[in-house]
Amino acid sequence: MTHLSDRINLISESQTIAMARKSRELKAEGIDVISLSLGEPDFATPDIIKQAAIDAINQNFSYYTHVSGYLELREAIAFKFKRDNNLDYSADEIVVSTGAKQSIANAVLSLINPGDEVLIPAPFWVSYLEILKLAGGVPIIIEAGIDNDFKVTADQLEKHITPKTRLMIFSTPCNPTGSVYNRNELREIADVIKKHDELYIISDEIYEHINFVGEHQSMAQFEDIKDRVITINGVSKGFAMTGWRGGILAAPKWIAQACDKIQGQFTSATSSITQKAMHAAMLLPAESTKYMRDAFLNRRNLVLRLMKDIPGFKTNTPQGAFYVYPEVSALFGKSYNGLVINNATDLSLFFLEVAHVALVPGAAFGDDKYIRFSYATSEDKLTEALSRMKLAVNKLK
Ligand code: PMP
Repeated sequence: MTHLSDRINLISESQTIAMARKSRELKAEGIDVISLSLGEPDFATPDIIKQAAIDAINQNFSYYTHVSGYLELREAIAFKFKRDNNLDYSADEIVVSTGAKQSIANAVLSLINPGDEVLIPAPFWVSYLEILKLAGGVPIIIEAGIDNDFKVTADQLEKHITPKTRLMIFSTPCNPTGSVYNRNELREIADVIKKHDELYIISDEIYEHINFVGEHQSMAQFEDIKDRVITINGVSKGFAMTGWRGGILAAPKWIAQACDKIQGQFTSATSSITQKAMHAAMLLPAESTKYMRDAFLNRRNLVLRLMKDIPGFKTNTPQGAFYVYPEVSALFGKSYNGLVINNATDLSLFFLEVAHVALVPGAAFGDDKYIRFSYATSEDKLTEALSRMKLAVNKLK
């Protein structure tokens, strides 16, 4: 007999992690699986960042720090926000955590009461929904389809707002679609936020550095709503530091203090060594990680070109992050060895078993007509994966 809480039964296992586990199982059987299911850069952390961590260890920087991160680190983050995004945040409006994931959880737990409604444009990043469910919030999913480049409009948002709406959560550049909101689109969303005094917005900008269309635009740039914006960022994606666990939240002081309070009881500060590494990352000139962005852009172009040859795949042109999110419903109803493909989950399992390529079905992101294809791996592997997928699709009857 198990006695798990209702709370834990309410949330689902991360499907991206579940798919990664299945592909590991196949790999353990000796099968050459190409994993395109996890959202992490395949680059090494830049040497200068690694050196800062080594120095921190050698200098015994090994004690508890301030829960929100040591002061000079938060000052360096404030410096980065000013330099890169022209945002004014002070050190006491910044909370460093064990990752953007924790920062989002801190913010949701700080702001949401059971029954509060939260607007989530779909496709959305998996964890928004599960974190929200843990907090007792009610997700209001707003579909943004491929024909609108997966971006919601102000009109769509407005239609879903009720007296219970407290928060909107979205990402730009977006996981899983790679969509990037431009300044005008953000301004229109800001106008909606502005009209509703009790509406806050979590702007997840963790993919800031992986943007192919120009300057990153932050939601908090709009002074008339900045006091209701929670900016999320981190080092995982832009600096290839997923395993280090460093996240950033910037928000009005009362929200930052609430996040500090939660974190102070749950985890305390992130590792002191990671903080020193993050500090070095914040001081790096913004252009220093451009080589990663350039590589991602080349890979994106390669993937889009090869995907055109796969029957039944409909794509748009993602403008950032490292995902392509094709619509695959044209393949539904087809079968392989008597097994019918009814949705993207069936199709992902088919690709895993027949092509030995691991992807994530759209069910994880709010709509099982799509699959997420992460191109954070070498061009050789991408070419091989797409050639296997094409062969596999041609086996469907
Ligand atoms: N937000 C988005 C949109 C993400 O894709 C991810 C990582 N997959 C995160 C947040 C979490 O990042 P971190 O590693 O900093 O927790």
